[in-house]
Amino acid sequence: MSWGLANLQHAMREPGCPICRLQREAEKRYLDNLLWENVNDPATREQWAAGLGFCARHAWQLQRLEAQRYGDGLGNALLYEDLLQRVILALEALAQEAVGDPPLLHQRLARSFKRSFLPHANASDPLPGLQGRQRCRVCRLGEDTAQAYGEWLIEGLGEADVRASYEASDGLCLPHLRMALGRARVRAPEVFGWLAGDAARRLQRLLGDLREYIRKHDWNYRDETMRPEERQAWIRAVAFFTGEVENDDSVDDRSG
Ligand SMILES: [Zn+2]
Ligand SMILES: [Zn+2]
Repeated sequence: MSWGLANLQHAMREPGCPICRLQREAEKRYLDNLLWENVNDPATREQWAAGLGFCARHAWQLQRLEAQRYGDGLGNALLYEDLLQRVILALEALAQEAVGDPPLLHQRLARSFKRSFLPHANASDPLPGLQGRQRCRVCRLGEDTAQAYGEWLIEGLGEADVRASYEASDGLCLPHLRMALGRARVRAPEVFGWLAGDAARRLQRLLGDLREYIRKHDWNYRDETMRPEERQAWIRAVAFFTGEVENDDSVDDRSG
């Protein structure tokens, strides 16, 4: 069994979408390594500057990670020291715009910053330097990870034992289901049909549980007890449509 499929089999035994889980793990590993040894690594810093930091989700994840793990914020401080210098220079250049000749702005910026210090110094940006020229590095890494596991899953679902593991799992969230179906359609039509059918059957069960959840809110049925699957149906619906977030800031009520 391939390394990727082995990881998938393991993730399928855990709650939630297995690809979300592996994606979050890869993102977390990147952030761990960043704080542990890569804050001063030039290539990592280049990625950080190119995105003008990370997206809100990953930036706050990094902040919490350092606070919780090290009780400190030196890594974050060094990273933001870098960004602050860049944004200050960009704003100072914009502040000069009113007194200078606007077309000269980019030339002046180019002179000010050796080795493309500005994250977004291209002529089409009306406010250069105030947004990243690349998407969040951690998001991109997570998406690449998800795509790789999508391939392993499609390959694995040709085998009966992997199908059995998948059926026993919580299944894919909608974003990852779309990704997997898109990849399987041409290359593995049999897996494509099976995966779509399996998802429809799962959602029928979820719909049934959700309807029971709604019905038992009615005063007339207040004495009927809710099964755990019904009590969690509304949260499972959120998870299906959006995917899983990292556990440290989600209200995960699905265990009980
Ligand atoms: Zn997912
Ligand atoms: Zn991100």
